[in-house]
Amino acid sequence: MVSLPILLSAAPVAFAVSAETWDRVASCESSGDWNINTGNGFYGGLQFLPSTWAEYGGLQYAPNAHQATKEQQIEIAEKVLAVQGPNAWPHCSMVAGLADSEASGQKTEKRSESRANQQPEDIQNAAQTTTAQAVSPSSARITASAPVRGADVSTPYRQAGPWAAGYHTGVDFAVPTGTAVRAVTQGTVISSGWAGSYGNAIVLRHPDGMYTLYAHLSSVSVSAGQGAAAGQQIGLSGSTGNSTGPHLHFEARTENSYNAHVDPIAYLRSLGLST
Ligand SMILES: [Zn+2]
Repeated sequence: MVSLPILLSAAPVAFAVSAETWDRVASCESSGDWNINTGNGFYGGLQFLPSTWAEYGGLQYAPNAHQATKEQQIEIAEKVLAVQGPNAWPHCSMVAGLADSEASGQKTEKRSESRANQQPEDIQNAAQTTTAQAVSPSSARITASAPVRGADVSTPYRQAGPWAAGYHTGVDFAVPTGTAVRAVTQGTVISSGWAGSYGNAIVLRHPDGMYTLYAHLSSVSVSAGQGAAAGQQIGLSGSTGNSTGPHLHFEARTENSYNAHVDPIAYLRSLGLST
């Protein structure tokens, strides 16, 4: 989730968002656990940053969002939505249909317009990392990284083939064994180690509610429960499990389950990496 400092005072906008929609956002952000604190720096069902929680008046209810009631968290979220728009929950707003709500239509349209005007660049070259916008250069930090650098796609997403789903649920990057595999954005390690046909694999959960999976690794260098920074090396590529040769199999998922995959290249783009 993104929480940017408010630079302009915006007139409050009435957003017609149903409780069901907020439930879907929470389901995506936190598996619907309104009292969650995983230690990833985001709190509660809608994964507030402490600064956002304080800025929008949450402190009247609780020191941190996960200590407040669901109703209180939604009340603060409505205020965040009115000023920042659905992009405060960049991925889960799409998953939950928050971005489609009538009142937010205009903002969303403007945003996609400006995104469409960006010139695509090669993910293998210039756009290996992106840095936070709206921060001073001295505090700029890497917020996204390609999972492997300088790699071609050898098998695209959804290519038909001999997989359990009948098609490819991720994207393969052609890299030799021993290539550094990196967390595409900040996250928490959900699992790391042997995972059957995936061989040695790592699953990360990101603050936006999304999951990424890195498979067929020759070695892993993180453990479940650990945090990972964007661009941090988490393992080395390989050909373990059901694999015909060295490559990185990379997936993006809305939930930590086999059928929750989405287009991994589109997810990398949404992180600011262009392909
Ligand atoms: Zn694959």
